[in-house]
Amino acid sequence: MSEPQSLTILGATGSIGTSTLDLVGRLPERFVLSSVTAGTNAKALAAIARRHGAQFAAVADPAAYEELKAQLSGSGIACGAGPAALVEAAERPADRVMAAIVGTAGLAPTLAALRRGTTVLLANKECLVSAGDCFMRTAREHEAEVLPVDSEHSAIFQALEGRNRDCVETATLTASGGPFRTASLERLEQVTAAEAVCHPNWSMGAKVSVDSATLMNKGLELIEAHHLFALSAEQLRVLVHPESVVHGLVSYTDGSVLAQLAPPDMRTPIALSLAWPARMTTPVPRLDLARLAKLTFEEPDLVRFPALAHALAALGAGGGAPTVLNAANEVAVAEFLVGRLRFLDIARIVGAVLDRAAASPLTAPAELDDALELDRWARMLTREAIARAPESA
Ligand code: NAD
Ligand code: MG
Repeated sequence: MSEPQSLTILGATGSIGTSTLDLVGRLPERFVLSSVTAGTNAKALAAIARRHGAQFAAVADPAAYEELKAQLSGSGIACGAGPAALVEAAERPADRVMAAIVGTAGLAPTLAALRRGTTVLLANKECLVSAGDCFMRTAREHEAEVLPVDSEHSAIFQALEGRNRDCVETATLTASGGPFRTASLERLEQVTAAEAVCHPNWSMGAKVSVDSATLMNKGLELIEAHHLFALSAEQLRVLVHPESVVHGLVSYTDGSVLAQLAPPDMRTPIALSLAWPARMTTPVPRLDLARLAKLTFEEPDLVRFPALAHALAALGAGGGAPTVLNAANEVAVAEFLVGRLRFLDIARIVGAVLDRAAASPLTAPAELDDALELDRWARMLTREAIARAPESA
């Protein structure tokens, strides 16, 4: 039997982290854990590290260090806290690193993993939106493979694999439409954070659930696809598909369309990234197309979901616009989740910040520090825009 693969999970306590642990926990002969990280929850992180026999555990919040140390005492598992510890977790030897921290907080550790030439399983789409050029260049320079975890990108990756790239016309990402797909603008004005995080098809972290509800998630994913697959803005499409069974499609010059289908369960794309170029068996319920009977598709509505229009504009503008879009969205979503912004304010604020930023010529960040600096500036503009907004609660 071949040696087990070593795996590091950045963001091990989250939704993607938990699904990844569910898969690797079933195959202890095939995977061993190297490092695991979390944002603040030392207790949950220590439990994961103990249960799965990790060698190192790092928590982002320095205030959680004492608790992590106490929870791990006697286990022989090393631990650390703060930004340097997250980077250490990413740099420790591992065959694959699952990048599943939410937001630009994941950028520094994920880039550190790439710099070691490690294969990165990328769930953290904000990394690519905020610093796509820098991210992909670092991967190329260090010959680090980047395997998509996002379900739509996993689908497109599979539909592109082994084909002639010159014959690709377009790639389409599907969107479920989120919990408010059929809601009127009047209704959208009123929706609460609790309603927004309740997704009809997928069970996910709070931020990506809100992004799904505004359709910003699909906008971020277009930018992610642009970088991952070197496809132009003109080649990328979005199609609303409420059943979330077809995840992505690639259209070729001969009229063929190749699509990937799977039930809406992240364990399928996670499994592909863990096993690629092989495959592994998952406990995901199998598709029953006869029972589903029909699959439906519709165009996205950019009037009710203006966040997608802002993301398309940022993709078209290029330069620093996607970094600004991502930072403004992260701040606005966090404010919405604590009840300080209303649902439609998220897109209003993001649009206002993009307009403000467009007054300065912004080049795409070439290095991590450039991305972090632009990210900080855009967050400041966003907080100013929120303080000024007459509509905000
Ligand atoms: P989540 O909120 O459930 O988990 C996020 C993880 O990051 C947790 O382990 C948390 O402790 C950690 N974290 C949070 N803030 C941090 C910080 N400041 N520093 C370090 N660590 C921090 O999120 P999720 O749903 O698992 O999503 C993770 C990423 O995967 C996101 O970028 C999301 O867009 C992407 N993604 C998620 C899904 C999904 O189904 N959940 C699907 C596709 C892509
Ligand atoms: Mg997705």
